[in-house]
Amino acid sequence: MKSHAKVVVIGGGVVGCSVLYHLAKGGWTDIMLIERSELTSGSSWHAAGGFHTLNGDPNVAKLQAYTVQLYKEIEELSGQSCSLHLTGGVMLADSPERMDFLRLAHAKGRYLGMDTELITPSEARAMFPLMDEKHFVGAMWDPVEGHLDPSGTTIAYSKAAKKLGAEIVLRNPVRELTQDADGTWNVVTEQGTVRAEHVVNCGGLWAREVGRMVGVELPLLAMEHMYLLTEPMPEVEEFNKATGREMVGVLDFKGEIYTRQERNGVLLGTYEKACKPWSPVNTPWDFGHELLQPDLDRIAPSLEVGFRHFPGIEKAGIKQVINGPFTFAPDGNPLVGPVQGLTNFWCACAVMAGFSQGGGVGLALSNWMINGDPGFDVWGMDVARWGEWATLRYTNAKVRENYSRRFSIRFPNEELPAARPAQTTPLYDTMLANNAVMGDSWGLETPLWFAPKGTEPKDVVSFHRSNDFEHVGNEVRAVRERVGVTEIANFAKYEVSGPGAEDFLNRLMTNRMPKTGRITLTPMLNEFGKLIGDFTIAKAAEDRFMVWGSSAAAKYHMRWFEKHLPKDGSVRIHRFDQTLVGLSIAGPKSQALLQKLVDTDVSSKAFRFMDFREMAVGGAPCMVNRITYTGDLGYEIWMQPAYQRLVYSAIKEAGEEFGVVDFGMRALLSMRLEKNFPTWFRELRPIYGPFEGSMDRFVKMEKNDFIGREAAAKEQAEGPKLHRVSFVVDAGDADVMGDEPIWAKVPTDYGTVEKPHGYGAPRFDEAGAEVRGSKAAEGASAIRGIQDGEWRVVGWVTSGGYAHYVQKSMAQGYVPAALAGNESAGLFEIEILGHRRPARINLEPLFDPTGGKMRA
Ligand SMILES: Cc1cc2nc3c(=O)[nH]c(=O)nc-3n(C[C@H](O)[C@H](O)[C@H](O)COP(=O)(O)OP(=O)(O)OC[C@H]3O[C@@H](n4cnc5c(N)ncnc54)[C@H](O)[C@@H]3O)c2cc1C
Repeated sequence: MKSHAKVVVIGGGVVGCSVLYHLAKGGWTDIMLIERSELTSGSSWHAAGGFHTLNGDPNVAKLQAYTVQLYKEIEELSGQSCSLHLTGGVMLADSPERMDFLRLAHAKGRYLGMDTELITPSEARAMFPLMDEKHFVGAMWDPVEGHLDPSGTTIAYSKAAKKLGAEIVLRNPVRELTQDADGTWNVVTEQGTVRAEHVVNCGGLWAREVGRMVGVELPLLAMEHMYLLTEPMPEVEEFNKATGREMVGVLDFKGEIYTRQERNGVLLGTYEKACKPWSPVNTPWDFGHELLQPDLDRIAPSLEVGFRHFPGIEKAGIKQVINGPFTFAPDGNPLVGPVQGLTNFWCACAVMAGFSQGGGVGLALSNWMINGDPGFDVWGMDVARWGEWATLRYTNAKVRENYSRRFSIRFPNEELPAARPAQTTPLYDTMLANNAVMGDSWGLETPLWFAPKGTEPKDVVSFHRSNDFEHVGNEVRAVRERVGVTEIANFAKYEVSGPGAEDFLNRLMTNRMPKTGRITLTPMLNEFGKLIGDFTIAKAAEDRFMVWGSSAAAKYHMRWFEKHLPKDGSVRIHRFDQTLVGLSIAGPKSQALLQKLVDTDVSSKAFRFMDFREMAVGGAPCMVNRITYTGDLGYEIWMQPAYQRLVYSAIKEAGEEFGVVDFGMRALLSMRLEKNFPTWFRELRPIYGPFEGSMDRFVKMEKNDFIGREAAAKEQAEGPKLHRVSFVVDAGDADVMGDEPIWAKVPTDYGTVEKPHGYGAPRFDEAGAEVRGSKAAEGASAIRGIQDGEWRVVGWVTSGGYAHYVQKSMAQGYVPAALAGNESAGLFEIEILGHRRPARINLEPLFDPTGGKMRA
């Protein structure tokens, strides 16, 4: 074993081997993988080997699609077969709600170039004859699904990596990790110590323990998972003989079951409600190539449904039951990337679908290590998306919830209950007493809307407008016409101070830093000129800045700030989390209300739009920003938690004469729509440039050099390819949720819209519902051509909803720049729940287009 390497990858499961392969392919060959035992000694060897491209997050779905197409490449390079069976798969809907869910998934797939198709139960049965179609209302066919040999695939990655120069050391547990002052890692193993520049944690079942070696508690937990294999079944053999094809994979949401052909019988696995964590605190180091004791009682309810839905399987004898553990993060997506607070310590763990995601994870992580950027939007699997609140117990509750709901519908207005409340502000009980419906905002309880007295404060979950509609509308109208107060603790807040603070922020941000007592809004870019942040910055004093951003991105941004912090100690950054909380008041009467609470002049002349001031509000020391996300006259008031109740009661008391109301996040988000304001991680993400994101006025090319300036200048000079735009949608009773395709009827001479790869043009009837094609029944995925002048998918929705004050359904999204410039640039339609709805680009905000109210 060599004693030095650029990278040590810990763990030889499918993920570690993929990371090793991609690093080698990227040109880093002084790399080694160290495995405790043999390759595939964690969860990889007993996987069911299924793969698919669908994922709730389209960006993760893209990486899954990459993984599937990679298998041919590693087979060729390694000479090792992955035993790939690209059978295609069918998802079965047992209810109209589940069919809506499939319509949504199908629509999302359009702009990703996925070739899914909505089919009937009998078409599904033609591909999987074991099912009884009377239990289902419809299905979705996905040609890019199948199964493979998990061990063979892991070995193919490892052999391919070795061919490119990587080294693999087996039977050698890593026992300890220490770091020298110069950043070099000492990887202490049973066979000696390796000094490495980078360490990657691909420890799978032991990733938590490897994290603890460097003082990090990673939010992941292993769950027991069972699947069974039947004896040979005559129905399977007959189907194979009659069609010359293998039966497809099937996912039955109702039964929480996946099943597929395995040799001459079937494999059937469940995600049961009565799920069970494995080794919840410590994973034993001596756990080897072992299986866990099967417990069929636990999965009996799923099997009961499954046997009803697939009667032939009940009759077949069970040959073997596999029960093995594998790991999950609280939301079921992987934990990938550099760990904040450490240098050159990387993660690629909690990969619950290693054979769908392993390739994409390896590619993204190797890009990140080699180029400084993952090359894709990997927010959905970034290890930085979890804060300190994701403790062992939080993770345990959330992983169990996620596992047991793996095949459940998550409605857009659905808040999940596990591990709540985690963080609360001092106003939590008051908000509950005021009938607030609370939501989980990255671990913090936040009011969503308020039910009137006598109405149960509870969401009726739905894909359509629901019971909150009227009440959120009332909150919006009260703010727009009088004044409202809302909690804003769910922002990230930082103080950046020291003699180098201003230069530091100027180097990171695209906008000029404000003068003392003023506020600026500014995006932040990476070296590639892509949006990685959007902040409100106030200059509190010569060397002290207050910075507000997205709370979801607090760790993500801290990681970036720390990476660029000058080494000379001239800049300090403090992240407040809930040690600084806030309230916002907004609406035409907000100024009069604030004036009653303070002993200083807050008239428009004395306290202008975008001013910042430290002042006592209701007797409590506060920082006040004259700015609000409602786009109205309004203020953000920040205080230590000890003062929050005092300020809130002062606002309510003084506001009585103005008819002050409580309003929640949903009203706030509705109001930002009618102002065309973007949100972070929906409209603004690391796949867009600032000009694409229509953030032009916050990018000051002529100021000092800043990170990403060169790339942004190029984007500006060449013109952005896409543009963020707002739409008014003729929406019916369901508004957009995000990720819907945007269709356009482009002029016949308009030749630059790229046809998304693999996209088959669907047909629609006069009511706008999709008409089924026939290719699924044939088991093929023909790509039909698109001629000029036809309707095309030209973009995607990032977010939207109902803008209550202007009484319009609105959406924001990205379309090609040539279609974005004027309101008659094209005819648009947005596909909502399988129906194409007319949409019109809306360039000017519908509420207060001149901004006069906000600036008043
Ligand atoms: C029953 C079952 C069915 C499944 N079905 C599917 C499926 O159909 N499709 C799918 O995509 N996924 C499936 N999975 C999940 C899949 O197995 C995992 O996603 C995948 O194995 C994760 O791989 P990994 O490399 O992250 O972890 P692991 O396979 O756990 O590998 C981690 C490796 O790291 C090594 N290691 C840990 N600590 C150290 C150390 N300190 N020093 C040296 N080495 C160390 C371990 O020995 C191990 O070999 C299934 C899992 C189970 C249990």
